[in-house]
Amino acid sequence: MPDVRVLIVDDEPDIRATVSAMLEIEGYRVDEAVNGADALRVLEDHAPDLILLDMRMPVLDGWGFARELRQRGHRTPIVVMTAARDAARWASEIAAAEFVAKPFGMDDLIRAVERARPAT
Ligand SMILES: [Mg+2]
Repeated sequence: MPDVRVLIVDDEPDIRATVSAMLEIEGYRVDEAVNGADALRVLEDHAPDLILLDMRMPVLDGWGFARELRQRGHRTPIVVMTAARDAARWASEIAAAEFVAKPFGMDDLIRAVERARPAT
């Protein structure tokens, strides 16, 4: 697979570790950030092709991160990762490309990533 770089943004270490492992198995290159503010720093060094975004995080949440990302002119597609009851609505609030509802399995995650990522 061509190099596709994914930035995982989630304040829960277990979720970052699990999602990283799933994506690396599929051949994606993965970076991680612990909240929205951290993600804004990370993406200046490692421009992602796709962002997997938790919404509820300390310091800077998913809404604040998405707003700042677009204000900086980045058009990177976002896949929202959040609880099932909120996923569709919150994804539409930030104009995300896709969402996956927690808890999700590897197949759900990979399908959402494949739909959202830019064609290579
Ligand atoms: Mg969270």
